Amino acid sequence: MEPIIKLKDLEITYNLGKVNEYKATKGMNMEIYPGEFVAFFGPSGCGKSTVFYSILGILEPSDGQLLVKGQNPYSYSPEEMVRFQTKTIGIIYQAFYLINSISVIDNVVLPQIFHGVNPRRREAWARQLLKRFGMEGQGEKYPDNLSGGQSQRVSVARSMVNNPDILLADEPTGNLDSVSTKQVMTSLDEINSVDKKTVIMITHNAAQLAYCHRVFYMKDGLLERVVPNPDKKQIAKIDKQKILVTEMDQLSKIFPYNSPTELKVKSLVNYMTQDLNFHQLQRLEELVKYVVERKMDKKEFHRILKRNYPDGGIGVSEALAETMADKVDKVIRQSEDARRFRRRFLSNNFFAEEPELISRLTRYIAEENEGELAFVQKKRLKELVYNRISGLISREEFKLTLRRSLDEGGVGISKNASRKLTNHFEKILIQGSEDPGHGH
Ligand code: ADP
Repeated sequence: MEPIIKLKDLEITYNLGKVNEYKATKGMNMEIYPGEFVAFFGPSGCGKSTVFYSILGILEPSDGQLLVKGQNPYSYSPEEMVRFQTKTIGIIYQAFYLINSISVIDNVVLPQIFHGVNPRRREAWARQLLKRFGMEGQGEKYPDNLSGGQSQRVSVARSMVNNPDILLADEPTGNLDSVSTKQVMTSLDEINSVDKKTVIMITHNAAQLAYCHRVFYMKDGLLERVVPNPDKKQIAKIDKQKILVTEMDQLSKIFPYNSPTELKVKSLVNYMTQDLNFHQLQRLEELVKYVVERKMDKKEFHRILKRNYPDGGIGVSEALAETMADKVDKVIRQSEDARRFRRRFLSNNFFAEEPELISRLTRYIAEENEGELAFVQKKRLKELVYNRISGLISREEFKLTLRRSLDEGGVGISKNASRKLTNHFEKILIQGSEDPGHGH
C-alpha cells in the first residue's frame, strides 16, 4: 500500500533569507497510510501546525519532499490547487472559523460552491450532514447563536461536504467542554472507521491518543518517535522493532515528553512498589537513572537507598534497601541477554549463541517461580520466551499460556505465578530495549 501522505526530509523555514529566518521543521520524515487515524503530539512550537499547513498546500516546503496521494501539491496550477484543497482535504480548526454573516447551512455548503454543484442538491446534502453530526434543524441559525460544541459540529459537517480523502483536525476540541469534546471525537472516530477517511489530528490531550492508530511525537521540528496503539488493528506496516508492545509504549503514552531512559527509570521505579512519598520517589528516580545508565553499581545504590533522606538518601529500611537493590540489579543484569538477542534479531544476524541466550532468559524467568519447574514446563516456557521476545505473541498471550494447564498446551503454573513471571520478563525486555522508537 502506498502512503497517502509522505514527507521526506521536509524542511520548512519561515522568513527564508531574512534576519529572522526560522527553521520550523528540520528534516521531517513520515508516512501516513490511507484509512489511518494519527495524532501529532508534542509541546507548543514543535512544528505541528507548520506540517499541517504544508500538507494543506498553503506553506511551501523550503526543502525536501511532500507528497499527497503521490503528488506534489505545490506543482499544481491554481485551479488544481483549489480542487485539491476542497476535494482532497477537509479541515477543522480549534477556532471553528465559521462565517458569522451567513447561516449554518450556507457555511456548510460553501466549499461546494467552487465545484458548480446545483444549489438544491448541495443544500440537501448539507442538511444530511448536519443531521448526521447532530445539528438537525439548526441550518437556519447563525453561527453567533451556537455553542462551541455546536459550532464545531457545523465545521465537521463543512469539512466533509466535498467528501475529501483526508481530514485535518487542528486541536478540534481545544475550545470545548467535556461533553462536546466527546461528541466531536466520536464524529472523528466515525469519519475514520466508517467513512474510511484518513484523519490527522493535532491534540494536546493524551486521552485522545486512544482513538488513533499511531501517535507521532514531535519535538523541536523533528519527529521524535512513532508509537502504534496496541489496542487498534494497525493499517501501516509496523517494523519489527515496533511489534513488541511493552509497558514502555504504554508509559510513553502517559509520559510523552520523557526520553527512553527516563521511561526505563519509571518502569523500574514502578517495579519497586513501595510506600514512598513524592520527594522520596523523585529522588529515587534520579538514583535509578544512574543505575539504568550503568553509572552506579548495586553496592552504591544500596548504600544511598538506606541513607537518611536529609543526608541525601532515600531513607528506606535496611531490608527494603536490600530487596530493592537486588531486584533492580537482577533486572539490569538479565536484560543484557535480552538486548543481545534483540540486536541480533533485528539485524537478522543469528549466531550459534541464540539458543544459549534463550536458555539463559528462560532460566531467569523460571527462577522467579516458587517451585522447581518440571522438564516439560521448562521446555514450553522456553518456547514462550522465544515467541515473546521475537514479538510473535503479546504480553497477554504469554501470561495466559503460562497459566494454561499442561494438557492444554500451557505451562501449568498458578495465576499469581504467571503474573509474577510475566511481569519480570517484561521488565527485562524493557531494560534490554535499545532506545525504542528513536531513529526509525
Ligand atoms: P505547533 O503547532 O507545534 O505549536 P508551529 O508549527 O505553530 O508549532 O510553530 C513551529 C515554530 O515555528 C515555532 O517556533 C513558531 O514560533 C514558528 N513559527 C510559526 N509560524 C511562524 C511564522 N509565520 N513566522 C515565523 N515563525 C513562525
